[in-house]
Amino acid sequence: MRSLAFGTQLTLTYRQRERERELCIQILVLVSAMAENEESLSSNTAGKPIRCRAAVGRKAGEPLVIEEVIVAPPNPYEVRIRIICTSLCHSDITFWKLKDPPGYFPRIFGHESVGAVESIGENVDEVMEGDIVIPSFLADCGDCIDCKSKKSNLCSKFPFEVSPWMHRDKTSRFTDLKGETLYHFLYVSSFSEYTVVDVAHVTKIDPAIPPNRACLLSCGVSTGVGAAWRTADVEAGSTVAIFGLGAIGLAVAEGARMCGATRIIGVDVNPDKFETGKTFGVTDFVNSATCTDKRLSEVINEMSGGGADYCFECVGLASLVHEAYACCRKGWGKTIVLGVDKPGAHLSLNSFEVLHSGKILTGSLFGGLKAKYDIPILAKRYMDKELQLDEFVTHEMSFEDINKAFDLLLEGKCLRCMGGYKSWIGLD
Ligand SMILES: [Zn+2]
Ligand SMILES: [Zn+2]
Repeated sequence: MRSLAFGTQLTLTYRQRERERELCIQILVLVSAMAENEESLSSNTAGKPIRCRAAVGRKAGEPLVIEEVIVAPPNPYEVRIRIICTSLCHSDITFWKLKDPPGYFPRIFGHESVGAVESIGENVDEVMEGDIVIPSFLADCGDCIDCKSKKSNLCSKFPFEVSPWMHRDKTSRFTDLKGETLYHFLYVSSFSEYTVVDVAHVTKIDPAIPPNRACLLSCGVSTGVGAAWRTADVEAGSTVAIFGLGAIGLAVAEGARMCGATRIIGVDVNPDKFETGKTFGVTDFVNSATCTDKRLSEVINEMSGGGADYCFECVGLASLVHEAYACCRKGWGKTIVLGVDKPGAHLSLNSFEVLHSGKILTGSLFGGLKAKYDIPILAKRYMDKELQLDEFVTHEMSFEDINKAFDLLLEGKCLRCMGGYKSWIGLD
């Protein structure tokens, strides 16, 4: 029998369905390593392929198949990681549904995780065997003009794309037992007991932070908190409006709260989100579904006395970006786009409005964070009890139940598209 190292301590509590819908913020899947081989693994696996379990996406939209796979040793500049904990993020679902490129199958999904370094390839001096690390989908090579600049987190040596390969040589480290190649996902592929990640995508963290919390810093929570902290640089005393109170929107609220924002207006079509939002500092709530006689931006302009200092679009709808831009304050207001719209979606702004309003509109990938520098800061702020992470976790389950996690997240997508500028599809 495999021992569920974390599963025994943090047993899945399956709540009532209604409660699950209400509270579905973030689901952690705890991956147990091949515990019966643990001792021998640590001493003699370096340089050899490892056979372990993974949840493989065989076909678009179909349940993942838990099967044994072969994980090759790391090439130069790569790190092989034993995944301790991984969670499900909405991008996993988006690409799992996608039949055509950038949807690729068979593929190992998962990009939000924490693990321990099992072995390192040549030319890796940043981490060593046993280090606790957080992989991230955005590279931080530390070397290119963008990584060296304080102004950007968009590495140009390893630019972000939804590639099925490792970054440097465009090949895979995974094969199934028949020898067929399994594709990578977002350079992480954490739905496997072992994975290989380029060192540019790996951040070493303090091992004191519990893995089921550190995991959240790998994508979603970092993105939201970072957007308020790094991209917007929210000032103390300011007013913030957040469109969409899913996991990312709530993380924006948490970031704004930490930066000292005094008024945080949450906008959603689900009033239950306000209760959840209060935990993260949301002070006011606007139910956009019931704004029938006024535009959403009018409501927020009135509430904030001329517009919010910072507006965050966390849904991924061009119409909502327009609303956010329309209710950020003239002269200094910033609108930050975090939501992922359909490919090819366009924004169209009135050029006079842009000229006359002096507002800033910007996107934010991974919250503007430089992974290697900022993730350890966020981890410390959690340990110092300044950053809330516990509140984001609503479900914990073992690796075998990973398909239940997909079901929960799909059901938790409890908002719907009603068209127009007053409503939208709310994701996660
Ligand atoms: Zn993510
Ligand atoms: Zn770079």
